[in-house]
Amino acid sequence: MALETLLANQRAAAELMGVDFRLIEEAQKPRIVMEDIIEVAGMEIPVLRAHSGQHDNTIGKGGIRMAAYASLEAARADVEELSAEMNNKLALRGYHGMFHGSKGGYGVDPRLLDHSSKREGAAKFEHKMEDAGLAGYDRDVPAGDVGTNGLADDYALAYRERNPGDPYWQASITGKSPENGGLEFRTAATGWGTYVTQKVIAEAKGHDTVRTAIQGFGNVGAWHAHFASNDPEGRMVVNAISDREGTLATNHPEGLKITLDMVHAIGDNLQFRGNKIQALAELIQKNQPGIDLDIYRSEDIFTIPTDYFVPAAMGNVITKDNVGHLGARLAVVEAANGPTTREAHHYLVKNGVLTVPDILANGAGVDCSIKERAANISGIIPTTEVVKRELTETCERVAREVLGIADELGTPDLGVAAAGLAMVRLLSLRSTVLAV
Ligand code: NAD
Repeated sequence: MALETLLANQRAAAELMGVDFRLIEEAQKPRIVMEDIIEVAGMEIPVLRAHSGQHDNTIGKGGIRMAAYASLEAARADVEELSAEMNNKLALRGYHGMFHGSKGGYGVDPRLLDHSSKREGAAKFEHKMEDAGLAGYDRDVPAGDVGTNGLADDYALAYRERNPGDPYWQASITGKSPENGGLEFRTAATGWGTYVTQKVIAEAKGHDTVRTAIQGFGNVGAWHAHFASNDPEGRMVVNAISDREGTLATNHPEGLKITLDMVHAIGDNLQFRGNKIQALAELIQKNQPGIDLDIYRSEDIFTIPTDYFVPAAMGNVITKDNVGHLGARLAVVEAANGPTTREAHHYLVKNGVLTVPDILANGAGVDCSIKERAANISGIIPTTEVVKRELTETCERVAREVLGIADELGTPDLGVAAAGLAMVRLLSLRSTVLAV
């Protein structure tokens, strides 16, 4: 859900629940808490951090992304929006008494920086957080995001250098490698959660073997594709995957089988340079000899006939201009943050295509991050098996809660139900604070 969609859904939920909408607007207002410039690779790069919510006694949580923003205003608007969305995602999963939504950004096209410049940028970002009084396990705990996955170690090490006496230096950021206190499952966590959520929704709605088309073969899209295409009950078939360079599609009844090697070598590989779709097609040909494969333009992912569409690349990609041509017949699972504009969301609901909102679908990454921070403080590192089981339980519970609220409110719109549940949780916090 883009923020405008989230707010429209909350307004609708507030009306159905008899809540004063102004209270929730106030309770999640975003603001810029850090804005500065870093110098990397001869470029001056703006860096920003936004917080949402009004509780000084909770900790900031949310990723830092790297993007080619058109202007500083556009960068500010993006991180503010994303911090408010994160605030609701945290509330929906029950973390609202401890964490508030937060989001950061570097205003630079990630393709302009090589890996070592990105690492230098991550350390300099930490210095700016430090200068703004935000760095530390009990203040604001960032994570990777688009263009920055894999850079958390550099932030943590920069924090340790500046704060040599802090025993909790590892908890200053999440998404680290296991050598620096990260959890093995973190890189797979969001894609696992989007897959588990899709499965719960499909089962609840009686959708049998669902064909799934996925936009974006990066961290989230590649892991989702891996888990869905290897679904133990064979209830999901990945019939198309796109990235910037094209869309790979098949009519094979078993779909595209995405192996772990494909995820590690191409999809979730920060160092990968080249055409992801071509490279993926070559590996699939080897793994599934004789499979029919077609490569279309990148934007054709929207119109490929399928049952479920999983946007897992960027925001605002399903718009009023393309929603009428969407190939998905049953549902959209918002793995990316804010992929559906407000008009497009209404069109989908009106036309009986279920939208599984981002704040519900893609929250397992933040669940895992919160576990990582807790492990870094307690010193007790949970096994991957335990992490996976707990993430599964949370995703299933929250998806069922949202389905239940939708039934109670008598709405087919899961966006309204999820926004309503998050709203009620945020407001309960407000009353507690007021009561104190
Ligand atoms: P990523 O950078 O690892 O992957 C994004 C992929 O999308 C890349 O392969 C990129 O080439 C591709 N892409 C970019 N433009 C495209 C286009 N026009 N068409 C098709 N593909 C395109 O990022 P990610 O971490 O996978 O994040 C994807 C989305 O999921 C973002 O919206 C992010 O905010 C959201 N998200 C990520 C996480 C996480 O844990 N990584 C958690 C919650 C939400």
